[in-house]
Amino acid sequence: MTENFTVVGIIDRMAGRGEKAFPREEPLSREKLKALEELQAVDLKIRDLSAEAETHPARLRQIEAERNQAKAALDQSRGRLADIERARRQQQDLLQMEKDKVRKWESRLNELKTPREYAALARELDIAKKTNTTAEEEIRRLAGEHDLAKKETAAAEQMLGEKEGVVEREGEQIKAVLDSLQARMAELQSERERLVEKCDKALMNRYERVRKQRGGIAVAPVVAGTCKGCQRNIPPQMANQLLTSDEILTCPNCHRFIYAADEPQAPEATV
Ligand SMILES: [Zn+2]
Repeated sequence: MTENFTVVGIIDRMAGRGEKAFPREEPLSREKLKALEELQAVDLKIRDLSAEAETHPARLRQIEAERNQAKAALDQSRGRLADIERARRQQQDLLQMEKDKVRKWESRLNELKTPREYAALARELDIAKKTNTTAEEEIRRLAGEHDLAKKETAAAEQMLGEKEGVVEREGEQIKAVLDSLQARMAELQSERERLVEKCDKALMNRYERVRKQRGGIAVAPVVAGTCKGCQRNIPPQMANQLLTSDEILTCPNCHRFIYAADEPQAPEATV
């Protein structure tokens, strides 16, 4: 009799440490917090999904910006090529004109009567020939630049083609992904509505406020006297209150709703 009484006493004391060993109905406060925790799980999924959805338009903007850059680079390259072609044509026209002049003057040299006239024309011819040499050099230089600009333009065209391809392919993919994310989001939202119905209305405002301030977590278990929301100890008296009272308590540090977690080493396992 005495021995039996002692055993019961031990079981009672063990039961006091964990809910599982205590076969009574769950306190109302725990049920309310469980409903909030379910809602919290869905809210976290919604948050992750929104974050994921945000990365896609950003990627789309990035690839479009790269495509626009490639387009601008090509326009610039083509502009440079056109400038070079124009300058080359001008130099060629100039050269042609000067060459015609030289030919004309040279044919006239022998017709001249006086040495002075001859000397004057010979000087003019000299200047015209120098001009021609300069123009020929300039044409050669421009030809080199033209080759370079042509290569640059071809490379810019290829780059633009690649970037356009990326926009086309990835753009399609991103749209498809966004569509599926939207469908998943709609599912989560309706699940959320269903869960909100099950939650205690009096707790909702605080739940919403705290989860927004505290990284999405508004309900946290207390394990071995530590609030798992903020990893700080709660006063021992409060830890005790969690086990004995049906009041809904909040962590004095992070203001999350707290509840006593089932002990990992449940007494049932050892009995
Ligand atoms: Zn806390």
